[in-house]
Amino acid sequence: MPGTSELSHVTSASGTSPRVEELLAALSTEEKIGQLIQYFYFKFPENSAGGPLGDLAGQPRMVEEALTRGGAGSLLFVKDPAETNRLQRAAIDGSPHGIPVLFGFDVIHGLRTIFPVPIGLAASWNAELIERAQAVAATEARAVGIHWVFAPMVDIARDPRWGRIVEGAGEDPLLGSVVAAAQVRGFQGGILGAPGRVIAGPKHFAGYGAALGGRDYDEVDLSDQEFWNTYLPPFRAAVQAGAGNIMSAYMDLNGVPASGNRWLLTDVLRGALGFDGFVVTDANAARDLVTHHFAAGPADAAVRALTAGVDMEMTVADPAFGHLGAALADGRVSPGQLDESVRRILVLKDALGLFDRPFVDEDAAREVLARPAHRDAAQQAAEQAAVLLRNEGAALPLDAAALRRVAVIGPLADSARDTLGPWVFDHDLSETVTILDGIRAYLGDRAAVSYEPGIAAPVRTFPSMFDRWEPGHIAPGSDPAVALDRAVRSAADADVVIAVLGEQQDMIGEAASRCDLSLPGEQLELLEAVAATGTPVVLVLMSGRPLELRGAAATVPAVLQAWYPGTRGGAAVARLLFGDVTPAGKLPFTWPRGVGQVPMHHAVTRSHAPQEQGRRYWDEESTPLFPFGHGLSYARFAYRDLRVEPASGTADGAVTVTVELANVSDRDGTEVAQLYLHQRHGTSSRPLRQLKGFRRVELAAGAAETVTFTVGPDERRYWSAATRGWVTDASTFDVWVGGDATATLHAQFTVTAG
Ligand code: BGC
Repeated sequence: MPGTSELSHVTSASGTSPRVEELLAALSTEEKIGQLIQYFYFKFPENSAGGPLGDLAGQPRMVEEALTRGGAGSLLFVKDPAETNRLQRAAIDGSPHGIPVLFGFDVIHGLRTIFPVPIGLAASWNAELIERAQAVAATEARAVGIHWVFAPMVDIARDPRWGRIVEGAGEDPLLGSVVAAAQVRGFQGGILGAPGRVIAGPKHFAGYGAALGGRDYDEVDLSDQEFWNTYLPPFRAAVQAGAGNIMSAYMDLNGVPASGNRWLLTDVLRGALGFDGFVVTDANAARDLVTHHFAAGPADAAVRALTAGVDMEMTVADPAFGHLGAALADGRVSPGQLDESVRRILVLKDALGLFDRPFVDEDAAREVLARPAHRDAAQQAAEQAAVLLRNEGAALPLDAAALRRVAVIGPLADSARDTLGPWVFDHDLSETVTILDGIRAYLGDRAAVSYEPGIAAPVRTFPSMFDRWEPGHIAPGSDPAVALDRAVRSAADADVVIAVLGEQQDMIGEAASRCDLSLPGEQLELLEAVAATGTPVVLVLMSGRPLELRGAAATVPAVLQAWYPGTRGGAAVARLLFGDVTPAGKLPFTWPRGVGQVPMHHAVTRSHAPQEQGRRYWDEESTPLFPFGHGLSYARFAYRDLRVEPASGTADGAVTVTVELANVSDRDGTEVAQLYLHQRHGTSSRPLRQLKGFRRVELAAGAAETVTFTVGPDERRYWSAATRGWVTDASTFDVWVGGDATATLHAQFTVTAG
């Protein structure tokens, strides 16, 4: 989490100005309500019968009409600079007080330059890298006229069936907090409204990742201790980093919809977290208060959302907030309540400079979107995101000089669209480097590279919600037996096989849960068939969640998790495979053996049984396939000499933990040293271990460094259901430092009362 010293330069979102107050005094009620409505604006083909959101052929016209009467304060989904300028002109010239529009968009892992998906960025455990990535995304977004992004998604995810695990930082509140703050800093810069930056909108407040059964949008029943200790910290970190916006979630939280939940949006968000920006609902979530059987109708929904703490409604059409005029008239909403929300939006528009500089320079935008430095940053991010899961017998790196024939196999190897991952809208497929492209470019004339998909695309069972905009992108295979046979023959002829398998990008993301985490389609059979040729096989995985790898991991000696690596992903993967870059990523989640084990995470408590690792399933180990924090390197690291000073202290004191980390190999590398803490007894049961610190250390071959951590009251404090409040107990604490959550190097210290 950022220290408070870093926060002093963050401009408060709550500061108003004479311009804002004058406008507020002049606006009609209808115009004020308009400022609180954000419309989707995407043009469907004229003959469109609508998408998952209904029949929308007339929607853009309706939105433009609203814009010119001051009935829309914000639009989302416009990304073309000529369009943002045109619509901005319509709002300024057409509406009664000429208030500029705020353009928001889902810039999740890049706009034109696509970075690895967020779960991959988190696997770098590198806050500076993540901040830089989102600063690039901000620069590109702002250049085309986007002022605000619906990111970062900071929802903790412990159930990989939930497709949106790909958008977040995984299971852990500390890693999640560091990644959340880094992203907010990257998007926003130091000052709210800074040029070349955008407003960040951490989402989805709160608890959305704990959907029942991993089914997107389903209810969430979260205990208070999980809420405060696990799901809230990344939001707290994002707010402390100065986030100007928060998006409220879709689902029920403990029986009350998040977007109509006054305790959540006001007591917790504004009270406990001190948030002073504006709150937007998730898409249509205000109207959805009726769907929840919570609000009596759209008018009631509008009142209950606004009075709960929502400022702006995101909607496709027919906003519930359109009923706020009547609610004001009958006193269910006070003029002061309305003004407070409108002020928040106007303050932000003012801070962004929209009243003075509402338009963008379209030529400049073209230059920004084409910047080579942005592509380089994306490649570096992909290199640092990759996680080497397995590397038996040092199968990797491959020695390019020793290879004559390389067989690349698998339908994802040459799919530009899948290389980018979900949640991209302005990408350029023609410049996307697939893994096949990357390998071919890397090897040049040095080796012959053959390519066989082996099977048709891994096939989904149902069409995805984005199908309407993203028609099938992998050509269906020909005759399956012929395709497999060709792949096997090319494997048999090669010195090495690089199999690229995983999930199509549209099998993950929003409304893309899975109840089966195996490699989709016939991919395992393909892998087994090529491995049976006897040619060494390395597996590159493209996914945003842990897949069931029992079979695959047993079949091949080396597995590199590449995520969806982005615009220059293939170049990054090639450099990793051939050893120009040494993998250093670490898993941001626990990797289960099978879907029946989920949810699974490292910070569990123990109750009855003496066995920590013993069997509790008839048919499976109780341990994961790969622990949280796991990731191998081509270098080798040793941890030694773990010390804690002082060995005992009082509740408000801190201890210093030091460890010597040595690179005991002849190859330079980077290791993420992780500190895990356990409290032996307390006011509540304490988890077996929890991540409480990490350091990313670059070490030249043979070098060593002393790594230092501080464990103080902040690391020991937790919310206890026994006292219904925060506690720091006197107890004995165990400390482990190592390269993953199973670290064994141990020390301890004692905290005494008073
Ligand atoms: C998603 C949000 C997203 C919004 C706008 C919703 O369906 O839940 O994360 O920002 O759509 O695209």
